[in-house]
Amino acid sequence: MIDPFGRAVTYLRVSVTDRCDFRCVYCMAEDMEFLPKSDLLSLEELDRLCAAFIRRGVTKLRLTGGEPLVRRGVMWLIERLGERLGHGLEELTLTTNGSQLAKNAEKLAKAGVRRINVSLDTLDAQKFAAITRWGRLPAVLDGLAAAKAAGLAVKINAVALRGVNEDEFDAMLEWCGAQGFDLCLIETMPMGEIDSDRTENYLPLSLVKTRLARRWTLTESAYATGGPARYVNVAETGRRLGFITPMTHNFCEGCNRVRLTCTGTLYMCLGQDDAADLRAPLRAHADDAALDAAITDAIARKPKGHDFVIGRQSRPAVARHMSVTGG
Ligand code: SAM
Repeated sequence: MIDPFGRAVTYLRVSVTDRCDFRCVYCMAEDMEFLPKSDLLSLEELDRLCAAFIRRGVTKLRLTGGEPLVRRGVMWLIERLGERLGHGLEELTLTTNGSQLAKNAEKLAKAGVRRINVSLDTLDAQKFAAITRWGRLPAVLDGLAAAKAAGLAVKINAVALRGVNEDEFDAMLEWCGAQGFDLCLIETMPMGEIDSDRTENYLPLSLVKTRLARRWTLTESAYATGGPARYVNVAETGRRLGFITPMTHNFCEGCNRVRLTCTGTLYMCLGQDDAADLRAPLRAHADDAALDAAITDAIARKPKGHDFVIGRQSRPAVARHMSVTGG
């Protein structure tokens, strides 16, 4: 699948549910309205859609959400997708808040998952409760310990928030080093209405990197996972530190991905509204000809990029929350 700008689309991110057991302040409003369960694709339908993308050249799948591990029966889907590894699919991974990892890490590893991203913005239990509203840090730390024990490589993703966790990055880098985790910092993106003004917490990572470079020896790394992060090596810990900078430096020129929601809507860009309905062609025919045609059509409309701006008066760039398309 080659888009109009010559980029090969090899990476599919699948939001398996829009529901989450956390309510992170920068991500969701507290009183979110979720989709009725009847709108959701079944796990069998999600498997069929993923298979269609793999047949068309997708080599990397990431399950996300909402919180992927709160979808009932999700492990069935992960096991089916795991069986596709080595048959077109090269990597199966997921992004999780870690709350359900303690009971699932071993099963994930058995299904063929090798690497996971765990979102964790702070190591301070009180701050964690305040950011996530409903989350509890010890459960996530237990989940991380289980992931390590199961042999999963872990990358910690932290959204950089001015006045919230900006004083913690040294400590988090040190802790990740001790745990054997990579750390990746993310700029907050203007997606969906929340209860506060994102401008107040927006922290450009260019500034964070300059600050970190005073204490740590950071050298540019050629490491790339197929995602948007740019990495440096941290000499003191021997681990990597990534930066995802959709605001200060967009990463669209190398974009290789599209995003599927749990209702079968395909977004060709995280920061644009254009989307393609794959549920109708999926359900209309037992064979995949119409679905394939819809995918071809969608890829031909993949836009050049997004244009996020966080300004005083700026509204969210897109109305949907990150939990719809999956971060
Ligand atoms: N529940 C899973 C998790 O916590 O990782 C997967 C979904 S969550 C939406 C994926 C990632 O998006 C998380 O790392 C979260 O912090 C991040 N995220 C959510 N809203 C964001 C925003 N407005 N800007 C930047 N990152 C955001």
